[in-house]
Amino acid sequence: GRRFPRPGSTRIITIANQKGGVGKTTTTVNLAAGLAQAGLNVLVIDNDPQGNASTALGVEHRAGTPSVYEVLVDGAPLSSAVQQCPDLPTLWCVPATIDLSGAEIELVSLVSRETRLRKAVDDFLEERIAQGLEPIDYVLVDCPPSLGLLTVNAFVVGREVLIPIQCEYYALEGLSQLLKTIELIKAHLNPRLHVSTILLTMYDGRTNLAQQVAAEVREHFPEQTLKTSIPRSVRISEAPSHGQSVITYDPSSTGALAYLEAAREVADRGRPEPLPVPSVDGAS
Ligand code: ADP
Ligand code: MG
Repeated sequence: GRRFPRPGSTRIITIANQKGGVGKTTTTVNLAAGLAQAGLNVLVIDNDPQGNASTALGVEHRAGTPSVYEVLVDGAPLSSAVQQCPDLPTLWCVPATIDLSGAEIELVSLVSRETRLRKAVDDFLEERIAQGLEPIDYVLVDCPPSLGLLTVNAFVVGREVLIPIQCEYYALEGLSQLLKTIELIKAHLNPRLHVSTILLTMYDGRTNLAQQVAAEVREHFPEQTLKTSIPRSVRISEAPSHGQSVITYDPSSTGALAYLEAAREVADRGRPEPLPVPSVDGAS
């Protein structure tokens, strides 16, 4: 396949939006597959108790499977939970099991409750280097549709946040709350965190509404918004039931090509400098 540039060091990207159904998991899985198909080493962390990313990547995630839960709650090493995805040889996943649904509560009483995922990821990346293994180029963290401790852990591990925005009415609603949360994390827990990337998902250019929403998002986030937007595509929604990304499920589909193009854009931009994030108060 085509080659994308390797980042100088591991890029850790958290895919977040507290709204459900906007394409977080779909974006995590297919961006990861796009980067891995181009020869990069990619690790997906499924940080959502629903385990949709684990399903879509075809990895085992029955109750009791070593997962993000053991890493967060028991302090297990990340390496004990990493599985290779059947889809692509340089794509790995730390699955989520149903156990993770209890973690949000269990974490509250644990020490370093906000930084447990970061510690595990840092240790894992160092361990690979010490073992003489190739570095991981990208870590993508999928988040649940909430701003609780699981998402906080994902914001503390990440340097970059990617926000998928569905092109529909109310698209920007809730965005200012998300950006405020990111600013709080930045001030108190992770000074390097910034919104590097916005991706328009489920875009239907035939509707005026989608065009208006896309224009509004680009106006607010001219630097962050990728040129590529992801169209609505049946192939994208079918792929997870085959335990595959759309990129291997139907490589020539419009959905696969769009996610590959988005992955290329992310890789070509390299690690961006933190950008000032405009306020979206009063938007939408
Ligand atoms: P989230 O993780 O934000 O809750 P998902 O990625 O699970 O959102 O997407 C929600 C639903 O929309 C899923 O059923 C998914 O298959 C579908 N979907 C996501 N992106 C597309 C797309 N571009 N075209 C068609 N269906 C999509
Ligand atoms: Mg999801």
